[in-house]
Amino acid sequence: MSEMKNYVEDVLALIKKRDPDQVEFHNTVKEVLTSIVPFLEKNPKYKAEKMLERMVEPDRIVTFRVAWQDDKNVTHINRGYRVQMNSAIGPYKGGLRFHPSVNLSILKFLAFEQVFKNSLTGLPIGGGKGGSDFDPKGKSDNEVMRFCQAFMTELYRHIGPHVDVPAGDIGVGGREIGYLFGQYKRIRDAYDAAVLTGKGLTYGGSLTRTEATGYGLLYFVKNMLDAKNISLKDKLVSVSGSGNVATYAIEKAQEFGAKVVTCSDSNGYIYDPDGIDIVTVKKIKEVERGRISEYEEIHPHSEYHEGCRGVWDVKCDIALPCATQEELDLESAKKLVGNGCQVVGEGANMPSTLDAIEYFLRKGVLFAPAKAANAGGVAVSALEMSQNSERLSWTFEQVDEKLKDIMSKIYQNAKQNAEEFGDPDNLVMGANIAGFKKVAEAMSAQGIV
Ligand code: NDP
Repeated sequence: MSEMKNYVEDVLALIKKRDPDQVEFHNTVKEVLTSIVPFLEKNPKYKAEKMLERMVEPDRIVTFRVAWQDDKNVTHINRGYRVQMNSAIGPYKGGLRFHPSVNLSILKFLAFEQVFKNSLTGLPIGGGKGGSDFDPKGKSDNEVMRFCQAFMTELYRHIGPHVDVPAGDIGVGGREIGYLFGQYKRIRDAYDAAVLTGKGLTYGGSLTRTEATGYGLLYFVKNMLDAKNISLKDKLVSVSGSGNVATYAIEKAQEFGAKVVTCSDSNGYIYDPDGIDIVTVKKIKEVERGRISEYEEIHPHSEYHEGCRGVWDVKCDIALPCATQEELDLESAKKLVGNGCQVVGEGANMPSTLDAIEYFLRKGVLFAPAKAANAGGVAVSALEMSQNSERLSWTFEQVDEKLKDIMSKIYQNAKQNAEEFGDPDNLVMGANIAGFKKVAEAMSAQGIV
């Protein structure tokens, strides 16, 4: 084994020894580090500087008790977290996730990914992630508000426009960001608009932020397909999820002329042979906060199937996993390829398992990895921070144009690095090297910290 492969293996062994239960974190670190070996071989100084050991250890992790009362005055205790992973190129930036599955392993994996994703955007933002094991599903608005206020009553000490700027993620949308911002403002007694992103348009939010991750995913996929002279028009597309990312991925795919036939939630999936009606999805999920099974009642010709994994059994040309981590395993990958799927674009974070990714690459599937393909959300968050600093609001078209440009540059950067390091269609390697390079250079320049 080469010296750098050994180095990577040693670091992987180190993180497993230190935190044996953090499987999601181990997996993402393995994905990144094994793919940057060719870069490390050309840049041996990073081994001498112990760059990998430094990058896998968060700058800081905060965990705290969140005590709140429900509408019946029953007290509940949840756990809150903020993982401040790396601030070499800017203040920590990354979403908050409210979901019962949240734990330190998942947040460390998300924060680690975020560091390289944020670097890829070309904007000055470091990486972090946070959240709680609180489940907003089935809670009243008042319960969600009380939870958010209790959460921010501790978090406010650790964040700020120049320190750490959280945003939304699973279970944290516009409603939650509003409550969190209100509490931050109350405690600080100052209007620091750029302390949170994903804000409402009346108090410092950016146009296009809601659409940014889904639209950005399609801009990235279009760049990837344009390079191969493949058109999105009339392509059959399978999407998982029906939350923020999925909704706007479906909308933009349809605008590009593709036919999207599926969407899902954690209970099951919809197959609509006529193409998903996005107005219905928005009504069910954004307005009524309902379940995707209700789609079948409104569109009786569609089919609802229990079990969200079945979504990958549906025949498609392009698969866009937009729900959650590790939702697309090797078995699903084989089904997709067997049914003729040629393109996979990751909207969610780490939706494909490591063996599924290896399989896609081996089979010549055009694969757009999450940290590049879904970077549009955080990129527009950074643009929201810029608008807050300027005290100006840009138009939808201005932000959308910038988003298109950023996604195109991310694609070019990943592609160029994939070519330079000898595997031209491997955008996993290309994106990882491109993201790593900038952070490593900045850390190196800043000395041993
Ligand atoms: P939402 O909460 O808006 O939607 C999440 C969707 O995924 C829902 O349809 C949800 O269904 C489904 N889902 C959640 N957990 C599971 C599960 N365990 N199994 C199957 N389905 C599940 O979140 P977002 O759309 O914002 O985020 C989706 C993904 O995209 C996440 O991986 C997130 O980290 C990533 N991402 C989000 C960004 C953003 O800007 N929002 C930016 C970059 C990445 P249900 O309603 O049943 O829970």
